[in-house]
Amino acid sequence: MNFIKKYKQQIYFHLILNLIVAFSITLSSYYHIPLSGFKSYTIYFVHFLLLQFSFFGILYLLSINKYVFYTIFPILFLSLSLLGFYKYSLDITISMDLIEAIFQVSLMVSLDLISGYTLLLIAVFLLILFFIFRLYSRISVNQLKSPLLFLAVIGVISYFIVEKIRHDTFNSRLPYVAFHGVKDYLTSDEITLKKVPVEVTSEKENVSFIFVLGESVRSDHMQLNGYQKETNPRLVKRKNLISYKNLYTENTHTVASIKQILTDKSIDDPDDYNDFYSIYSILNTADFNTYWIANGDIVKGYEPIIKSNKKLLLVDKFKTVMSFNKSLDQEMFISFDSIYKKKENQFISMHMIGSHWWYENRYSDEFRKFNPVIKSKYIPSLKEENLLNSYDNTIVYLDYFLDELIKRVDKNNDSSIVMYVSDHGESLGENGKWLHAQEAEACKNPAMIVWYSDRFKNKYPEYVASLNENATKKITTDFFYHSVIDFYKIENFNYDRYQSIFRKGNF
Ligand SMILES: [Zn+2]
Repeated sequence: MNFIKKYKQQIYFHLILNLIVAFSITLSSYYHIPLSGFKSYTIYFVHFLLLQFSFFGILYLLSINKYVFYTIFPILFLSLSLLGFYKYSLDITISMDLIEAIFQVSLMVSLDLISGYTLLLIAVFLLILFFIFRLYSRISVNQLKSPLLFLAVIGVISYFIVEKIRHDTFNSRLPYVAFHGVKDYLTSDEITLKKVPVEVTSEKENVSFIFVLGESVRSDHMQLNGYQKETNPRLVKRKNLISYKNLYTENTHTVASIKQILTDKSIDDPDDYNDFYSIYSILNTADFNTYWIANGDIVKGYEPIIKSNKKLLLVDKFKTVMSFNKSLDQEMFISFDSIYKKKENQFISMHMIGSHWWYENRYSDEFRKFNPVIKSKYIPSLKEENLLNSYDNTIVYLDYFLDELIKRVDKNNDSSIVMYVSDHGESLGENGKWLHAQEAEACKNPAMIVWYSDRFKNKYPEYVASLNENATKKITTDFFYHSVIDFYKIENFNYDRYQSIFRKGNF
């Protein structure tokens, strides 16, 4: 009893502090997660409690010395609470772009952060902060000698244990995601893009190349490739369209795939090989206009490659794949329409969020062709049939997206080509594995489609013949870089012409 009495103020302080932090910061990362069923809620509740417990450890250590606490805690609390608020209200997740924007203060403008509304919010947080300080000043025991210290150390250790068991379990959520975002932003750039020799040229022929970089779409779920469900109702009716069912990659996650597809890096090169040519640097030097349109943020791991485009147009730049309220891919058409021009040497890349988990957020209701679908994000609680339906609905949406894009390009009546390549496939329950970024054959056979206009067909009959001849061959994603260079007849630059899909007799 004496024990409780002695540490009463201290226990009370940490209880209140953790309640406040839990509601204003930690819980925001769970608020938008779709869940249904007792099991899903329980799992995520335990997840949340563990995360908060680990952060309790850090807060405790911070509160041992009062000078440290009075200087560091206010900064931490105010910035994290604001991030928590924007996570709750806008589902914004910390990303490279967000950190960069915060540093450049452009976020203040873009999110209307300096509005009266936000100032009011900061005032509320300041009031809460003073309340915390008052409670803190009442602690009379030496926190370094308190038995609570033992609990705090266990809390901190639990963070490392959980992160070791499953990487990014805590790091992808507030508050830790903020520290990691800043760390990623500040650590030096690992990728070095090689400089392209200035003498690189090309015959300019007024041709538009539209490259769509897909996400998590596997070849065998395309109706075009013989899938029994009607996932491509629009594209099957298109002429001048070829589907490649035998595309392979060794890379099963986005960063590794992008680094390899858009550069001369081969799928056989080691992961840490980071010294390469960006396809965009080559095209820019040869005087083409390169555009990058994306429905998402740019990840540090491939940022320099993307930024080697002449122009970037990002739809939803402060939301990552961790956000559940993200824009649909069709939002990219607004950017596309604003730049797509007739008779210009354009190379436009469009990076989709595609079929990235959580599938239900990737398409609108009208594309919910297969039912029933998933209602929760917690995979073990879901039925395989529902998961497959949701995934296949994202392919129906892709079908719509590509068909709409082709419609726009076709209307221009120009010499154009649209090439769609997914970055990798997706594991859908094979050997008990789901999603991607893992060793699974289903992740290594991504979908690929090529469409060309009638004018293109008349202008480049030999290209079209080669595209058709190569349709059934086994190709690796290395083909892309070399094919683009070959397609534009880039001169004074070495590449592997045997990897070009625009030539016969390859593969
Ligand atoms: Zn991906």
